[in-house]
Amino acid sequence: MKLHVQTLFVAIGLGIKRNWHIFLAIIAGIIFGNYVFELEHGMSQIQSDSILYIRLHQLLGVLDIIGQAFLKVIQMIVIPLVCSAIVVGISSIGDSKQIGKFGKKMVIYYGIITIIAVSIGALLAITIKPGLGVQNYIDTASTSLQNQVNAVLASQKGQLGNLFLSMIPQNPLESLAKGEMIPIIFFALIFSLALSKVGEINRPIVSFFESVFAATMKVTDWIMIFAAPGIFSLTAVAVSSFGLSIFSTISKFFAVVFIGFIFQLFIVYPLMLKIFSKVPVGNFYTAIIEALLVAFGTASSSATLPLTIACCEKRGISHKVCSFVLPLGATLNMDGTALFQTVAVIFLTQAYGITLAPVQIIQIMLLAIIASSTSAGIPGAGLITIALVLNGLGLTPEQLVVGFAFLFSIERVVDMLRTTVNVASDAVVAAVIADNENEINYDLLNNTDDYKEII
Ligand code: ASP
Repeated sequence: MKLHVQTLFVAIGLGIKRNWHIFLAIIAGIIFGNYVFELEHGMSQIQSDSILYIRLHQLLGVLDIIGQAFLKVIQMIVIPLVCSAIVVGISSIGDSKQIGKFGKKMVIYYGIITIIAVSIGALLAITIKPGLGVQNYIDTASTSLQNQVNAVLASQKGQLGNLFLSMIPQNPLESLAKGEMIPIIFFALIFSLALSKVGEINRPIVSFFESVFAATMKVTDWIMIFAAPGIFSLTAVAVSSFGLSIFSTISKFFAVVFIGFIFQLFIVYPLMLKIFSKVPVGNFYTAIIEALLVAFGTASSSATLPLTIACCEKRGISHKVCSFVLPLGATLNMDGTALFQTVAVIFLTQAYGITLAPVQIIQIMLLAIIASSTSAGIPGAGLITIALVLNGLGLTPEQLVVGFAFLFSIERVVDMLRTTVNVASDAVVAAVIADNENEINYDLLNNTDDYKEII
Protein backbone atom coordinates (compact mmCIF):
# COMPACT_ATOMS: atom_id res chain seq x y z
CA MET A 1 0.00 0.00 0.00
CA LYS A 2 2.75 2.36 1.07
CA LEU A 3 4.60 1.62 -2.12
CA HIS A 4 1.51 2.37 -4.16
CA VAL A 5 1.11 5.77 -2.55
CA GLN A 6 4.78 6.51 -3.16
CA THR A 7 4.49 5.40 -6.77
CA LEU A 8 1.47 7.64 -7.17
CA PHE A 9 3.37 10.65 -5.88
CA VAL A 10 6.36 9.94 -8.10
CA ALA A 11 3.99 9.61 -11.05
CA ILE A 12 2.34 12.89 -10.18
CA GLY A 13 5.70 14.56 -9.74
CA LEU A 14 7.40 13.30 -12.86
CA GLY A 15 5.03 11.62 -15.18
CA ILE A 16 2.32 14.14 -15.88
CA LYS A 17 2.42 17.49 -17.56
CA ARG A 18 2.68 20.80 -15.74
CA ASN A 19 -0.88 21.62 -16.78
CA TRP A 20 -2.08 18.77 -14.64
CA HIS A 21 0.07 19.83 -11.72
CA ILE A 22 -1.54 23.25 -11.81
CA PHE A 23 -5.01 21.80 -12.28
CA LEU A 24 -4.56 19.46 -9.31
CA ALA A 25 -3.14 22.37 -7.29
CA ILE A 26 -6.32 24.36 -7.96
CA ILE A 27 -8.57 21.46 -6.94
CA ALA A 28 -6.51 20.81 -3.80
CA GLY A 29 -6.54 24.53 -2.99
CA ILE A 30 -10.33 24.65 -3.30
CA ILE A 31 -10.77 21.58 -1.08
CA PHE A 32 -8.36 22.79 1.57
CA GLY A 33 -9.62 26.38 1.53
CA ASN A 34 -13.19 25.20 1.87
CA TYR A 35 -12.22 22.88 4.75
CA VAL A 36 -10.73 25.82 6.65
CA PHE A 37 -13.78 27.97 5.91
CA GLU A 38 -16.15 25.27 7.13
CA LEU A 39 -14.18 24.85 10.35
CA GLU A 40 -14.53 28.56 10.99
CA HIS A 41 -18.04 29.25 9.80
CA GLY A 42 -19.71 25.91 9.08
CA MET A 43 -22.07 23.67 11.03
CA SER A 44 -19.38 22.05 13.12
CA GLN A 45 -17.52 25.23 13.98
CA ILE A 46 -14.45 24.74 16.15
CA GLN A 47 -13.33 27.01 18.98
CA SER A 48 -11.05 29.79 17.93
CA ASP A 49 -8.58 28.85 20.70
CA SER A 50 -8.37 25.16 19.77
CA ILE A 51 -5.01 23.82 18.64
CA LEU A 52 -6.38 22.75 15.25
CA TYR A 53 -7.76 26.24 14.63
CA ILE A 54 -4.51 27.91 15.60
CA ARG A 55 -2.39 25.53 13.51
CA LEU A 56 -4.63 25.92 10.48
CA HIS A 57 -4.37 29.67 10.73
CA GLN A 58 -0.62 29.49 11.01
CA LEU A 59 -0.62 27.28 7.93
CA LEU A 60 -2.86 29.73 6.07
CA GLY A 61 -0.43 32.51 7.01
CA VAL A 62 2.42 30.53 5.46
CA LEU A 63 0.36 29.73 2.36
CA ASP A 64 -0.48 33.40 2.01
CA ILE A 65 3.21 34.25 1.97
CA ILE A 66 3.95 31.52 -0.60
CA GLY A 67 1.07 32.66 -2.82
CA GLN A 68 1.98 36.34 -2.63
CA ALA A 69 5.63 35.53 -3.29
CA PHE A 70 4.63 33.60 -6.42
CA LEU A 71 2.45 36.46 -7.61
CA LYS A 72 5.16 39.01 -6.95
CA VAL A 73 7.88 37.14 -8.81
CA ILE A 74 5.72 36.86 -11.90
CA GLN A 75 4.68 40.51 -11.63
CA MET A 76 8.35 41.39 -11.24
CA ILE A 77 9.06 40.46 -14.86
CA VAL A 78 5.92 41.88 -16.45
CA ILE A 79 7.20 45.40 -17.08
CA PRO A 80 10.53 44.38 -18.65
CA LEU A 81 8.59 41.80 -20.64
CA VAL A 82 5.98 44.23 -21.93
CA CYS A 83 8.56 46.87 -22.90
CA SER A 84 10.87 44.41 -24.61
CA ALA A 85 8.03 42.53 -26.33
CA ILE A 86 6.63 45.72 -27.83
CA VAL A 87 10.00 47.08 -28.97
CA VAL A 88 11.06 43.74 -30.48
CA GLY A 89 7.61 43.07 -31.92
CA ILE A 90 7.16 46.40 -33.65
CA SER A 91 10.68 46.62 -34.94
CA SER A 92 10.45 43.07 -36.31
CA ILE A 93 7.26 43.98 -38.14
CA GLY A 94 9.27 46.83 -39.56
CA ASP A 95 7.17 48.29 -42.28
CA SER A 96 4.60 50.69 -40.97
CA LYS A 97 1.89 49.45 -43.35
CA GLN A 98 2.04 46.03 -41.72
CA ILE A 99 2.01 47.57 -38.24
CA GLY A 100 -1.10 49.49 -39.25
CA LYS A 101 -2.69 46.29 -40.59
CA PHE A 102 -1.95 44.38 -37.36
CA GLY A 103 -3.21 47.31 -35.30
CA LYS A 104 -6.43 47.65 -37.30
CA LYS A 105 -7.19 43.93 -37.04
CA MET A 106 -6.43 43.95 -33.36
CA VAL A 107 -8.84 46.81 -32.69
CA ILE A 108 -11.55 45.14 -34.80
CA TYR A 109 -11.25 41.69 -33.22
CA TYR A 110 -10.90 42.94 -29.66
CA GLY A 111 -13.85 45.24 -30.38
CA ILE A 112 -16.02 42.40 -31.73
CA ILE A 113 -15.23 40.13 -28.78
CA THR A 114 -16.03 42.81 -26.21
CA ILE A 115 -19.22 43.97 -27.92
CA ILE A 116 -20.42 40.35 -27.99
CA ALA A 117 -19.50 40.00 -24.29
CA VAL A 118 -21.52 43.01 -23.14
CA SER A 119 -24.43 42.00 -25.38
CA ILE A 120 -24.48 38.51 -23.87
CA GLY A 121 -24.27 40.01 -20.38
CA ALA A 122 -27.15 42.42 -21.04
CA LEU A 123 -29.33 39.77 -22.71
CA LEU A 124 -28.84 37.26 -19.91
CA ALA A 125 -29.42 39.83 -17.17
CA ILE A 126 -32.56 41.18 -18.83
CA THR A 127 -34.08 37.77 -19.52
CA ILE A 128 -33.12 35.92 -16.32
CA LYS A 129 -33.58 39.00 -14.07
CA PRO A 130 -31.21 37.91 -11.28
CA GLY A 131 -31.83 41.10 -9.28
CA LEU A 132 -35.56 40.79 -8.73
CA GLY A 133 -36.52 40.41 -5.07
CA VAL A 134 -32.99 40.34 -3.65
CA GLN A 135 -32.78 43.84 -2.17
CA ASN A 136 -33.00 42.67 1.43
CA TYR A 137 -30.38 40.06 0.84
CA ILE A 138 -28.04 42.63 -0.70
CA ASP A 139 -28.60 44.98 2.23
CA THR A 140 -27.69 42.37 4.84
CA ALA A 141 -24.82 40.83 2.89
CA SER A 142 -23.20 44.21 2.50
CA THR A 143 -23.34 45.88 5.89
CA SER A 144 -19.94 44.76 7.15
CA LEU A 145 -18.15 45.97 4.04
CA GLN A 146 -19.52 49.46 3.70
CA ASN A 147 -16.61 51.32 5.25
CA GLN A 148 -14.13 49.64 2.96
CA VAL A 149 -16.32 50.45 -0.01
CA ASN A 150 -16.72 54.12 0.90
CA ALA A 151 -12.96 54.41 0.83
CA VAL A 152 -12.71 52.74 -2.60
CA LEU A 153 -15.46 54.90 -4.09
CA ALA A 154 -13.89 58.06 -2.71
CA SER A 155 -10.51 57.12 -4.17
CA GLN A 156 -12.13 56.62 -7.59
CA LYS A 157 -13.82 59.99 -7.90
CA GLY A 158 -10.84 62.07 -8.96
CA GLN A 159 -9.36 59.36 -11.13
CA LEU A 160 -12.37 58.81 -13.35
CA GLY A 161 -12.42 62.44 -14.45
CA ASN A 162 -8.83 62.17 -15.65
CA LEU A 163 -9.36 58.84 -17.35
CA PHE A 164 -7.98 59.69 -20.76
CA LEU A 165 -5.31 62.08 -19.62
CA SER A 166 -3.94 59.46 -17.27
CA MET A 167 -3.16 57.21 -20.24
CA ILE A 168 -0.45 59.60 -21.41
CA PRO A 169 2.74 59.47 -19.37
CA GLN A 170 4.22 62.81 -18.53
CA ASN A 171 7.37 61.08 -17.43
CA PRO A 172 7.74 57.49 -18.75
CA LEU A 173 10.28 56.63 -16.08
CA GLU A 174 7.85 57.63 -13.36
CA SER A 175 5.18 55.42 -14.96
CA LEU A 176 7.69 52.58 -15.12
CA ALA A 177 8.50 53.00 -11.46
CA LYS A 178 4.81 53.04 -10.54
CA GLY A 179 3.99 50.09 -12.81
CA GLU A 180 1.28 52.01 -14.69
CA MET A 181 0.68 49.71 -17.62
CA ILE A 182 -1.36 51.85 -20.00
CA PRO A 183 1.04 54.84 -19.98
CA ILE A 184 3.97 52.44 -20.28
CA ILE A 185 2.43 50.78 -23.33
CA PHE A 186 1.54 54.18 -24.81
CA PHE A 187 5.17 55.27 -24.59
CA ALA A 188 6.58 51.91 -25.69
CA LEU A 189 4.40 51.94 -28.82
CA ILE A 190 5.43 55.42 -29.88
CA PHE A 191 9.07 54.79 -29.05
CA SER A 192 9.10 51.50 -31.01
CA LEU A 193 7.39 53.06 -34.00
CA ALA A 194 10.06 55.75 -34.00
CA LEU A 195 12.76 53.09 -33.72
CA SER A 196 11.35 51.24 -36.70
CA LYS A 197 11.67 54.44 -38.73
CA VAL A 198 15.29 55.31 -38.00
CA GLY A 199 16.91 52.46 -39.93
CA GLU A 200 20.03 50.50 -38.96
CA ILE A 201 20.91 52.88 -36.17
CA ASN A 202 18.22 51.17 -34.08
CA ARG A 203 20.21 47.92 -33.87
CA PRO A 204 21.88 48.41 -30.45
CA ILE A 205 18.57 49.21 -28.76
CA VAL A 206 16.65 46.47 -30.53
CA SER A 207 19.36 43.91 -29.69
CA PHE A 208 19.29 45.09 -26.10
CA PHE A 209 15.53 44.53 -25.90
CA GLU A 210 15.85 41.16 -27.69
CA SER A 211 18.15 40.07 -24.88
CA VAL A 212 15.77 41.46 -22.24
CA PHE A 213 12.89 39.55 -23.82
CA ALA A 214 14.84 36.28 -23.96
CA ALA A 215 15.92 36.65 -20.35
CA THR A 216 12.38 37.38 -19.11
CA MET A 217 11.15 34.28 -20.92
CA LYS A 218 13.85 32.24 -19.21
CA VAL A 219 12.84 33.66 -15.84
CA THR A 220 9.22 32.75 -16.64
CA ASP A 221 10.30 29.17 -17.17
CA TRP A 222 12.04 29.13 -13.80
CA ILE A 223 9.08 30.71 -12.03
CA MET A 224 6.73 28.14 -13.46
CA ILE A 225 8.61 25.41 -11.60
CA PHE A 226 6.88 26.85 -8.54
CA ALA A 227 3.50 27.24 -10.22
CA ALA A 228 1.81 24.32 -8.46
CA PRO A 229 2.61 25.38 -4.86
CA GLY A 230 2.03 29.04 -5.76
CA ILE A 231 -1.38 28.44 -7.32
CA PHE A 232 -2.36 26.00 -4.57
CA SER A 233 -1.59 28.64 -1.95
CA LEU A 234 -3.40 31.45 -3.76
CA THR A 235 -6.48 29.31 -4.31
CA ALA A 236 -6.55 27.92 -0.77
CA VAL A 237 -6.27 31.36 0.83
CA ALA A 238 -8.92 32.81 -1.50
CA VAL A 239 -11.41 29.98 -0.96
CA SER A 240 -10.84 29.99 2.82
CA SER A 241 -12.30 33.51 2.87
CA PHE A 242 -15.58 32.72 1.12
CA GLY A 243 -16.11 28.93 1.19
CA LEU A 244 -17.99 26.95 -1.43
CA SER A 245 -21.32 27.56 0.31
CA ILE A 246 -21.21 31.03 -1.27
CA PHE A 247 -22.51 29.44 -4.46
CA SER A 248 -25.83 28.60 -2.86
CA THR A 249 -26.44 32.08 -1.47
CA ILE A 250 -25.58 34.11 -4.54
CA SER A 251 -26.98 31.60 -6.93
CA LYS A 252 -28.89 33.69 -9.44
CA PHE A 253 -26.45 36.55 -9.94
CA PHE A 254 -23.51 34.21 -9.99
CA ALA A 255 -25.27 31.79 -12.34
CA VAL A 256 -25.91 34.56 -14.88
CA VAL A 257 -22.29 35.74 -14.83
CA PHE A 258 -21.07 32.15 -14.98
CA ILE A 259 -23.31 31.26 -17.95
CA GLY A 260 -22.04 34.37 -19.72
CA PHE A 261 -18.43 33.31 -19.19
CA ILE A 262 -19.11 29.77 -20.37
CA PHE A 263 -20.82 31.18 -23.44
CA GLN A 264 -17.81 33.33 -24.27
CA LEU A 265 -15.30 30.55 -23.67
CA PHE A 266 -17.06 27.67 -25.36
CA ILE A 267 -19.30 29.22 -27.99
CA VAL A 268 -18.12 32.71 -28.94
CA TYR A 269 -14.35 32.04 -29.08
CA PRO A 270 -14.64 28.74 -30.98
CA LEU A 271 -16.96 30.48 -33.43
CA MET A 272 -14.49 33.35 -33.85
CA LEU A 273 -11.71 30.85 -34.52
CA LYS A 274 -13.88 28.99 -37.03
CA ILE A 275 -15.30 32.02 -38.82
CA PHE A 276 -12.20 34.20 -39.01
CA SER A 277 -9.43 31.60 -39.19
CA LYS A 278 -8.67 27.93 -39.67
CA VAL A 279 -7.16 27.50 -36.20
CA PRO A 280 -8.31 24.13 -34.78
CA VAL A 281 -10.23 24.88 -31.59
CA GLY A 282 -9.25 21.78 -29.57
CA ASN A 283 -5.54 22.04 -30.26
CA PHE A 284 -5.63 25.74 -29.60
CA TYR A 285 -7.24 25.35 -26.18
CA THR A 286 -4.77 22.56 -25.34
CA ALA A 287 -1.96 24.96 -26.24
CA ILE A 288 -3.14 27.72 -23.92
CA ILE A 289 -4.58 25.68 -21.03
CA GLU A 290 -1.61 26.39 -18.78
CA ALA A 291 -2.10 30.14 -19.17
CA LEU A 292 -5.81 29.77 -18.43
CA LEU A 293 -5.13 27.83 -15.23
CA VAL A 294 -2.62 30.42 -14.07
CA ALA A 295 -5.10 33.20 -14.91
CA PHE A 296 -7.68 31.46 -12.74
CA GLY A 297 -5.24 30.99 -9.87
CA THR A 298 -3.74 34.49 -9.92
CA ALA A 299 -6.78 36.55 -11.05
CA SER A 300 -4.36 38.76 -12.95
CA SER A 301 -4.02 39.03 -16.74
CA SER A 302 -0.79 40.98 -16.35
CA ALA A 303 0.80 38.38 -14.13
CA THR A 304 -0.31 35.70 -16.59
CA LEU A 305 1.09 37.58 -19.60
CA PRO A 306 4.53 35.93 -19.60
CA LEU A 307 2.83 32.57 -19.72
CA THR A 308 0.28 33.59 -22.33
CA ILE A 309 3.14 34.66 -24.59
CA ALA A 310 5.09 31.49 -23.84
CA CYS A 311 2.12 29.18 -24.54
CA CYS A 312 1.23 30.91 -27.82
CA GLU A 313 4.79 31.14 -29.14
CA LYS A 314 5.69 27.60 -28.16
CA ARG A 315 2.79 26.29 -30.16
CA GLY A 316 3.45 28.18 -33.34
CA ILE A 317 2.01 31.70 -33.17
CA SER A 318 4.77 34.01 -34.40
CA HIS A 319 6.76 36.24 -32.12
CA LYS A 320 5.74 39.24 -34.23
CA VAL A 321 2.07 38.72 -33.46
CA CYS A 322 2.44 37.61 -29.83
CA SER A 323 4.69 40.44 -28.81
CA PHE A 324 2.40 43.06 -30.27
CA VAL A 325 -1.10 41.69 -29.69
CA LEU A 326 -0.79 39.97 -26.29
CA PRO A 327 0.66 42.78 -24.13
CA LEU A 328 -1.98 45.17 -25.49
CA GLY A 329 -4.67 42.57 -24.93
CA ALA A 330 -3.58 41.87 -21.36
CA THR A 331 -3.92 45.56 -20.62
CA LEU A 332 -6.82 46.77 -22.72
CA ASN A 333 -8.93 43.78 -23.74
CA MET A 334 -11.07 42.75 -20.77
CA ASP A 335 -14.19 41.23 -22.26
CA GLY A 336 -14.83 39.00 -19.22
CA THR A 337 -14.67 42.09 -17.04
CA ALA A 338 -17.02 43.98 -19.37
CA LEU A 339 -19.52 41.11 -19.27
CA PHE A 340 -19.39 40.99 -15.48
CA GLN A 341 -19.81 44.77 -15.17
CA THR A 342 -22.83 44.78 -17.48
CA VAL A 343 -24.56 41.99 -15.55
CA ALA A 344 -23.66 43.48 -12.18
CA VAL A 345 -25.02 46.93 -12.97
CA ILE A 346 -28.28 45.65 -14.47
CA PHE A 347 -28.58 43.29 -11.47
CA LEU A 348 -28.33 46.20 -9.03
CA THR A 349 -30.88 48.32 -10.88
CA GLN A 350 -33.28 45.37 -10.82
CA ALA A 351 -32.66 44.86 -7.11
CA TYR A 352 -33.55 48.48 -6.39
CA GLY A 353 -36.57 48.49 -8.67
CA ILE A 354 -35.19 50.88 -11.27
CA THR A 355 -36.57 50.32 -14.75
CA LEU A 356 -34.01 50.83 -17.45
CA ALA A 357 -34.91 52.35 -20.81
CA PRO A 358 -33.26 50.67 -23.83
CA VAL A 359 -30.99 53.66 -24.26
CA GLN A 360 -29.80 53.28 -20.66
CA ILE A 361 -28.97 49.63 -21.31
CA ILE A 362 -26.90 50.66 -24.31
CA GLN A 363 -25.23 53.31 -22.14
CA ILE A 364 -24.37 50.63 -19.58
CA MET A 365 -22.89 48.42 -22.29
CA LEU A 366 -20.78 51.24 -23.74
CA LEU A 367 -19.57 52.36 -20.34
CA ALA A 368 -18.71 48.77 -19.44
CA ILE A 369 -16.54 48.56 -22.58
CA ILE A 370 -14.69 51.73 -21.56
CA ALA A 371 -14.50 50.88 -17.86
CA SER A 372 -13.24 47.36 -18.49
CA SER A 373 -10.49 48.46 -20.82
CA THR A 374 -9.26 51.00 -18.32
CA SER A 375 -9.09 48.26 -15.66
CA ALA A 376 -5.55 47.17 -14.91
CA GLY A 377 -4.86 43.47 -15.36
CA ILE A 378 -4.62 42.93 -11.62
CA PRO A 379 -6.93 41.31 -9.05
CA GLY A 380 -10.02 43.36 -8.28
CA ALA A 381 -9.45 46.12 -10.85
CA GLY A 382 -12.71 45.48 -12.68
CA LEU A 383 -14.72 45.91 -9.53
CA ILE A 384 -13.25 49.32 -8.86
CA THR A 385 -13.80 50.68 -12.37
CA ILE A 386 -17.42 49.54 -12.23
CA ALA A 387 -18.04 52.83 -10.40
CA LEU A 388 -17.85 54.47 -13.83
CA VAL A 389 -20.72 52.32 -15.15
CA LEU A 390 -22.83 52.75 -12.02
CA ASN A 391 -22.96 56.53 -12.32
CA GLY A 392 -26.10 58.27 -13.53
CA LEU A 393 -28.53 55.36 -13.29
CA GLY A 394 -30.72 56.80 -10.59
CA LEU A 395 -29.27 54.81 -7.69
CA THR A 396 -29.04 56.86 -4.50
CA PRO A 397 -25.57 57.23 -2.95
CA GLU A 398 -26.61 54.76 -0.21
CA GLN A 399 -27.77 52.21 -2.75
CA LEU A 400 -24.55 52.66 -4.68
CA VAL A 401 -22.47 51.95 -1.60
CA VAL A 402 -24.56 48.97 -0.52
CA GLY A 403 -24.70 47.48 -4.01
CA PHE A 404 -21.00 47.92 -4.46
CA ALA A 405 -20.36 46.29 -1.11
CA PHE A 406 -22.45 43.30 -2.14
CA LEU A 407 -20.33 42.82 -5.25
CA PHE A 408 -17.26 43.17 -3.04
CA SER A 409 -18.36 40.22 -0.93
CA ILE A 410 -18.21 37.79 -3.85
CA GLU A 411 -15.44 39.49 -5.74
CA ARG A 412 -12.58 37.02 -5.60
CA VAL A 413 -14.33 34.05 -7.14
CA VAL A 414 -15.87 36.14 -9.92
CA ASP A 415 -12.49 37.76 -10.54
CA MET A 416 -10.76 34.39 -10.97
CA LEU A 417 -13.32 33.41 -13.59
CA ARG A 418 -13.40 36.69 -15.52
CA THR A 419 -9.60 36.81 -15.66
CA THR A 420 -9.60 33.36 -17.27
CA VAL A 421 -12.01 34.71 -19.90
CA ASN A 422 -9.90 37.85 -20.41
CA VAL A 423 -6.74 35.84 -21.00
CA ALA A 424 -8.45 33.35 -23.32
CA SER A 425 -9.75 36.14 -25.53
CA ASP A 426 -6.30 37.74 -25.82
CA ALA A 427 -4.92 34.44 -27.06
CA VAL A 428 -7.87 33.87 -29.43
CA VAL A 429 -7.35 37.26 -31.06
CA ALA A 430 -3.61 36.63 -31.38
CA ALA A 431 -4.33 33.27 -33.06
CA VAL A 432 -6.86 34.73 -35.48
CA ILE A 433 -4.55 37.58 -36.52
CA ALA A 434 -1.64 35.17 -36.86
CA ASP A 435 -3.75 32.98 -39.13
CA ASN A 436 -4.89 35.92 -41.26
CA GLU A 437 -1.34 37.17 -41.66
CA ASN A 438 0.32 33.78 -42.28
CA GLU A 439 2.13 34.10 -38.98
CA ILE A 440 1.24 30.70 -37.54
CA ASN A 441 3.07 27.40 -37.78
CA TYR A 442 0.30 24.81 -38.07
CA ASP A 443 2.71 21.87 -37.79
CA LEU A 444 3.49 22.98 -34.26
CA LEU A 445 -0.08 23.78 -33.32
CA ASN A 446 -1.40 20.46 -34.58
CA ASN A 447 1.29 18.32 -33.05
CA THR A 448 0.56 18.33 -29.34
CA ASP A 449 3.85 16.62 -28.48
CA ASP A 450 6.07 19.15 -30.14
CA TYR A 451 6.81 22.76 -29.30
CA LYS A 452 9.17 25.52 -30.28
CA GLU A 453 11.95 26.54 -27.91
CA ILE A 454 11.49 30.27 -27.51
CA ILE A 455 15.00 30.92 -26.31
N1 ASP B 1 -8.46 40.67 -12.62
C1 ASP B 1 -8.81 41.00 -13.97
C2 ASP B 1 -7.66 40.74 -14.90
O1 ASP B 1 -6.55 40.80 -14.49
C3 ASP B 1 -9.25 42.42 -14.10
C4 ASP B 1 -10.54 42.59 -13.35
O2 ASP B 1 -10.46 42.82 -12.15
O3 ASP B 1 -11.60 42.41 -13.96
O4 ASP B 1 -7.87 40.48 -16.06
